[in-house]
Amino acid sequence: MKITRIDCHILLDPDYNPAATSSAQDDLVVEVHTDEGIVGIGETDLNPWIARECIEAPGTHTMDQGLGSVYLGLDPLDPPKAWWTAYQATAMTGRRGALVNAMGAIDMALWDIAGKAADAPTWTLLGERSRDHLGAYASLQPEVSNFDDYLSSMLQWAKSAKDMGFLAAKLETTFSGPYANMGLHEKDERMTEVIAAVRSQVGPDFILMVDVQYAFDSVDRARRVLETWIDLDIFFVETPLWTDDLDDYRALAESIPIRIAAGEWLSTHYEFEDLVHRGHVAVLQPDIGRVGGLTEAVKVTRLAAETGKLVVPHLWKTGISVAAAAHLATVTPHMPFFEFLPPPLCESRLRKELVVDEVTLSEGRVSIPERPGLGVELNRDSLELFKEAARRVRP
Ligand SMILES: [Mg+2]
Repeated sequence: MKITRIDCHILLDPDYNPAATSSAQDDLVVEVHTDEGIVGIGETDLNPWIARECIEAPGTHTMDQGLGSVYLGLDPLDPPKAWWTAYQATAMTGRRGALVNAMGAIDMALWDIAGKAADAPTWTLLGERSRDHLGAYASLQPEVSNFDDYLSSMLQWAKSAKDMGFLAAKLETTFSGPYANMGLHEKDERMTEVIAAVRSQVGPDFILMVDVQYAFDSVDRARRVLETWIDLDIFFVETPLWTDDLDDYRALAESIPIRIAAGEWLSTHYEFEDLVHRGHVAVLQPDIGRVGGLTEAVKVTRLAAETGKLVVPHLWKTGISVAAAAHLATVTPHMPFFEFLPPPLCESRLRKELVVDEVTLSEGRVSIPERPGLGVELNRDSLELFKEAARRVRP
């Protein structure tokens, strides 16, 4: 089988809010076509116009190609081999960052094709089934611009998540740093106030994670705050420090009895090796698209197994990535949860409407995928609506 064409779809939620810190509002979706008529779908999480250029840009010499021209003619049934070919042929522009993020969408689509060609769910090609059901946690980020609304919204959403059957939720409590959402700026103690209020509402058995999104500018500040959370029984604290400050991550991880999680922006498993061996975090959070697709995500899960870490993927996109995460989780026993934006509890129309997928939640569990490939289909009417919204930003 050969790859014959890659279609790039730039999508935008027509109701997007430029003041929000939410990459769920846009998307780069690829459809990879083959000479046998099988089409695979993938997506990735970066500026979609930049992602498209990584794929469609022409190359003028052998070591700096656009991804699209490299993948044409390759065998989609061997995604790791195609990955390495593309990684080498784009090395002067790529190796990390946007170009590897864009490769992730194509790689995801190749695994979809490989599953469809085998008439089997993609996970059967990734490894051994390791469980009977999957764990997903609800990610909760109220899109409001003052603290009182934020607190009441968070309490309401946490209750809704529990009512929907979730056993775990993550609170995006970001009141400082680069991610301060919707202009909310508050003292660190306000984070503690939110977490304590949610904990007392959901009770001791519900699992809570906290994402502070790079809020702390020093290890001392992070430690001072996290020490007050020990009794609140937090499963992990995500990205407390700037992503490059790996020595600080290590200092914090070694001085606080709460798991530290990081990795959402990293591309390739090589960057995760640094995070593990230098940063000493307990939970690795590859975003399957950004890290370079399922090919790289599987390598991160192997690294985690070898070093006694957990894997809990980042996921702030649509049902395509949810499906990819479900397939990865099926073969990864040390992946207790993956991130899940519950459609009723998020603002993104892309999350709610882009695909028809089979991943649904029942009593806090997600079932093992059974359809061939990734098991998702694009809703064509929604696709056109979101493409049109993107064209209004850039024709
Ligand atoms: Mg995060």
